[in-house]
Amino acid sequence: MLTSIKGKSVIVTGGSKGIGRGIAQVFAAQGAKVTLIARDEAGLKKAATEMGGNVRYEIADVGDWNAVKAAVDSTAKAQGGLDIMCANAGYFPQTKIVEMDVEEWDSVMACNLRSSFLAVKASIPYFEKANKGRVILTSSITGAVTGFPGWSHYGASKAGQLGFLKTAAMELSRYNTTINAVMPGNIYTEGLQGLGQEYLDTMAASIPLKRLGAVEDIGNAALFFASDEAAYITGQQIIVDGGQILPESLEAIQEI
Ligand code: NAP
Repeated sequence: MLTSIKGKSVIVTGGSKGIGRGIAQVFAAQGAKVTLIARDEAGLKKAATEMGGNVRYEIADVGDWNAVKAAVDSTAKAQGGLDIMCANAGYFPQTKIVEMDVEEWDSVMACNLRSSFLAVKASIPYFEKANKGRVILTSSITGAVTGFPGWSHYGASKAGQLGFLKTAAMELSRYNTTINAVMPGNIYTEGLQGLGQEYLDTMAASIPLKRLGAVEDIGNAALFFASDEAAYITGQQIIVDGGQILPESLEAIQEI
């Protein structure tokens, strides 16, 4: 049993859907004060209402510095500071390099990678004031460990988060703050459903545990990084993928 995070002030970007919603749900169920950040107000309102507990929301594009800073400042005012920043929002359009335009590359980098920098930068004043803090990034197995046609930009952005993580961990240590990353495999979310049933079925069949992950699987890993028990872990990453990266070949997975 982990020490309770009851009453802690938490932000989850991309908290209106999918993995972010799962992380927010896990933290809210533990009695934390949770703010969801996303762009679509209707989605945010619905998620906050359905989640119950102490959950509010802020509207912001995570790639926009002014919007992120305003949302973090407003949250800290409403929740009495900031203890835990979960920088999770991201998206994964599938376009091969030959067909990809520069705008799509830049848009993926802004939403998935610049957003990690902005979330950390906006949180630092509160971590400094409290002399403590936690950051949890949602990265991916895609990029640092695996590749998939159409995801060159996505993979680069997700691997980039892990590059950012290591120096950020060193710089944040002066505020007694840790930063770690969860690397999900294929998790059943609204975003993943958008890739189609055939993709979902093929992926589930290629995972040793024979199922797609649930959003709570990622929420629980994030909860561990946020706990008192993880106080001495920083600059690290954990893969939560049901064993997806383990098989060496198609034959290996068929042997199970
Ligand atoms: P999802 O179901 O599509 O949910 C994405 C969430 O992010 C929504 O709340 C969305 O709300 C928000 N969002 C997207 N772009 C945003 C922006 N520019 N500014 C603010 N909010 C934004 O996606 P998901 O599958 O849960 O993925 C979430 C994270 O997990 C991403 O970083 C993704 O790379 C990572 N991941 C997912 C999987 C997977 O299998 N699902 C695997 C590995 C890693 P709005 O659209 O209203 O803004």
